[in-house]
Amino acid sequence: MEAAETIQSIRSLIKAARDSGKIIGLVPTMGALHVGHISLIEAARKKCDYVVVSIFVNPTQFVPGEDFEKYPRPFENDLDICQKAGVDAVFAPSPEQMYPVENITWVNVKKITEPLCGQFRPGHFQGVTTICTKLFNIVAPDFAFFGQKDAQQAIVIRRMSADLNMPLEVVICPTVRESNGLAVSSRNKYLSEQQKKDAANIYKSLQKCQQMIDSGVKNTSEIIDEMRKILQQVPSIEIEYISIVDADTLQNIEHFTGKVLTAVAVRIGPARLIDNILLDTRE
Ligand code: AMP
Repeated sequence: MEAAETIQSIRSLIKAARDSGKIIGLVPTMGALHVGHISLIEAARKKCDYVVVSIFVNPTQFVPGEDFEKYPRPFENDLDICQKAGVDAVFAPSPEQMYPVENITWVNVKKITEPLCGQFRPGHFQGVTTICTKLFNIVAPDFAFFGQKDAQQAIVIRRMSADLNMPLEVVICPTVRESNGLAVSSRNKYLSEQQKKDAANIYKSLQKCQQMIDSGVKNTSEIIDEMRKILQQVPSIEIEYISIVDADTLQNIEHFTGKVLTAVAVRIGPARLIDNILLDTRE
């Protein structure tokens, strides 16, 4: 496995791979790698001949007051995980490498960045879309792999790449969960054992949604009320939002129909956690 810290060095690795006819896959990450990231690497290995993992804690997607400084950066361990997972190249640039001068050029996706997390993290998606565009321009992958766990991010990136005719395919991979249902996340490291147990109610609330849909309930406010009750069973959970939206437009819907995303964001102690399920009620 190769490790590149500069744009020039990752580009020359990619050029060599491309010259030998290889299909390139990119898995963008912020490091602190876990089984969720490994599942993306595995998906990339199935589809591609040369898998690049980027590790970059992107400052422009953190809103002031968020956890940019204390975000975990276990770099040696990440390299080890990548090596064992069969990654071909790790691209781990410094902030100066990615933003050598003040950044005044941004990629902005409208409308679908406004609801859900967009309301609570102003500027976050602009940072995400801009860094992903930069990574796509540097690595020029055929496929880029994202997790369903960050559903809005995946939908925004897919839409951005379609709207801007980016020559790659965005692949969205299923959410990997702990045995209690908690979605695996680098931010779970902020949680105590008790808080991890408490956080299981996030997925329980999503399962409740699934059960209600399966039993024929269509009214979204009825479902949201039941989900809220499950989250409120745990005093340490502070609900940010529970939303049931159209999976393409991300607009709230009153009646459950078509392709629907049910998404939850909460705070537990020091962590902000998100999770979601995608349901397709089309006949
Ligand atoms: P991050 O390092 O948290 O920015 O995540 C990098 C990528 O891994 C994103 O596309 C995430 O959606 C994805 N990811 C994070 N956690 C999970 C998970 N539990 N299951 C699947 N994908 C995940």
